[in-house]
Parts: sequence; structure tokens; C-alpha cells
Amino acid sequence: MSDDLQPETLAIHTGIHRSQFNEHSEALYLTSSYVFDSAAQAAARFAGEEPGNIYSRFTNPTVTALEERLAALEEAETCIATSTGMSAILTSVMGLLSAGDHIVASRSLFGATVNLFNNILKRFNIDTTFVSATDVSAWEAAVRPNTKLFFLETPSNPLTEISDITELSKVAKKAGAWLAVDNCFCTPILQKPLKLGADIVIHSATKYLDGQGRVLGGAVLGNRELLMEGGVFGFLRTAGPTLSAFNAWVILKGLETLKIRLDAHANNAMQMARWLEAQPNIERVYYPGLPSHPQYDLATSQQKNGGGIVSFEVKGGKQAAWRVIDESRLISITANLGDTKSTLTHPASTTHGRISQEARDDAGISDGLLRIAVGLEAVQDIQADLARGLA
Ligand SMILES: *Cc1c(COP(=O)(O)O)cnc(C)c1O
Repeated sequence: MSDDLQPETLAIHTGIHRSQFNEHSEALYLTSSYVFDSAAQAAARFAGEEPGNIYSRFTNPTVTALEERLAALEEAETCIATSTGMSAILTSVMGLLSAGDHIVASRSLFGATVNLFNNILKRFNIDTTFVSATDVSAWEAAVRPNTKLFFLETPSNPLTEISDITELSKVAKKAGAWLAVDNCFCTPILQKPLKLGADIVIHSATKYLDGQGRVLGGAVLGNRELLMEGGVFGFLRTAGPTLSAFNAWVILKGLETLKIRLDAHANNAMQMARWLEAQPNIERVYYPGLPSHPQYDLATSQQKNGGGIVSFEVKGGKQAAWRVIDESRLISITANLGDTKSTLTHPASTTHGRISQEARDDAGISDGLLRIAVGLEAVQDIQADLARGLA
């Protein structure tokens, strides 16, 4: 596919390799293995001397189609699809790091990522230092001689802090470490971390890439040498956190509408953020598209718009926040995000419930904080749903 096509076109046309039937839509190849023409061909495939499929733990044409499409959107040389977003992170770490290595990571990460770094990797003698998402000098100060990886999400969840990808990529390079960015909230439609200097992009395809709350999936993107020879693909093919062909096919079809969905999510979220800012019972709104966001300028230079996630602090703490949730009828009470359906969550008692009160206070996650992942419903209907509990 030509490089000068626009993202919405790439999202529809990249990765199509028609079979002998010349089908128009992407084919779903449900097969665990592939047949060789001869013993010599089997040997050549296994030896890596001839390209082609061997076994679907390694590669599958439907999964490959998704990988090509996502790579085109992120402007990455290579994409490796994985079974979930978490397995994309695990596969990257297992592929690139060894016992004794050190990670510097943002303090504002997805809860399971914190758990993986803090509790599981630690058992394999990989230590992580958590630092402020926004303080570049703190990352610099946390570097050790054995630092191999910087890891961040931007905007962060739930407070929408923005990490400066360009500046942190310079610090990482100087430290001899790779910079990995979990681009789940923005997707390549709003932000391309590899273009800004990151080495690795991580996706939970479960979120906006599918976009309709149907399947789990993930992806690792970056340059070919790092991912293919660096051991990331080797880990996947050996250990097997592989994306299923069916899920790949669902996500492929999800990508076709990624741009129009993301633009619509962001448009709705911007209207919600402005409306929430005007409500008397709201203390504060966190949304990178609002000029009141402390890093509005950085957000504007780094991402195309504010995205689809808005957090806000309700006056009256947990009781008032829970009332907003319990009075909602339309919005789904769930921690998932990136769906056409709006979702509402109370981070302090759900996604961030297992960390100490002190750690929550440090992170700025108050008892009155709510996070809405704004869906594609009419914005006045979402507002009316929240207005009841806010009254
Ligand atoms: C959901 C999520 C993940 C994990 O993805 P799964 O597909 O649930 O494994 C990782 N990072 C972020 C930012 C997420 O929102």
C-alpha cells in the first residue's frame, strides 16, 4: 500500500491479500497449521529460509493482515499482534529485558501494568522505579547503569496527565534505554509516538481499536530489527500469547471506522468537558482538550485533540460521586473504555482501589473523582444522564 494515503484510507485498504476466491472483504482464516508442498519446503520454512506460514501460534494470514494495517497507521516498520494489551507489554519485556535490568516507568499507569512491573517482574530480578509522568528531570534522575526501558502512557488514566514523548525519548536515548509508549488512549489517529522519538508502541486493541467492546487484543509496534531480532517475536512464537484469527478479524473491521469514531469520541468528550466545567457541583475537570488543562500546550502539540476520556471531581467526595454513578441509566457502570457506549467509573474504589490511600493521595486520585469514557451517543443524552446524579 502506498505511503501517501491518508489514515482513513490505510485503515480500510491495508493488509488485503485476496485468496483464489477473490473475496472483497478480509478473509477469516481459521486454521491452526499450514500444509507444505514437500519435505524440502517444510524444512525451508522451519529454517526461516522461505517466508510463509507454519503454525498459527507463529503467524496466521488474518493476524498478519491486522498487523500490516496497524503498522501502516502507526507508521511502524513492524507490528506484532498479541492476545491482549497486557500480553503486548509482557511480550515486549520478556523479549527485550533480562534479569538484572531496570525499568523507569510513569507513576500513572494502567493498574495491571503496575502490578506486572512491581510484583511479577520483580520476582525475575527486574526492578522498576516509578516517577512522575510529567517531570522529565525525575526520569533522568531515576536512570541507573542497568536501565533498559522507559515506559509511559499519555494521556494518563484517569487524570489525563501528558508526558512529553520527545523530551523523554532524548533522555532514554542518552541512558541507552528504549522508550515504550502505551498509545491506547490516543490510537495512531490522534498521536504517533514513534514519530516523536519512541522506540516501541503498545496497544490494548481491546479499547478503541476494536471500539465496540467485543474482543480482547493487543499489539507491539516498532522497527523490524528491534522486534524481530530483538527477541519480541521470538518470545511470542515460543510462549504463545498469540492473537486469535477471529479476534484479529474483528479488530481489522474495527479499524475501518477508527478515524470517524475517534473524531466523534473527541468531539463528544470536548462538549462534555465544557459542560462539566460549567456545573456548580463539580470541583474540577481533567481533559487535555480544555485550555484549563495544566499541559494544554504540550497536549496540543503532541496529540491531534483531547481524545475521548474526561475525568472530573464531584463536590462531596465518594458519596456524591457514587450517587452520580447510581443515578445513571444510559451510561454503563464499567471500567472498560473505548467503546461506542459511554462508560463511567469511580477510580478510587475500582481501578485504583487496591493501592493505599496514601498512594492514591500522592497520585491525586480523590474520592470524588469520576472518569467517563465518552461514547458515541448524542451528547445531550449523556449530559442528561449525569445531570440527574449531579443535581
Ligand atoms: C486496558 C488497558 C491495558 C490492558 O489491555 P488488555 O487488553 O485489557 O490486556 C493496557 N493499557 C491501558 C492504558 C489500558 O487501558
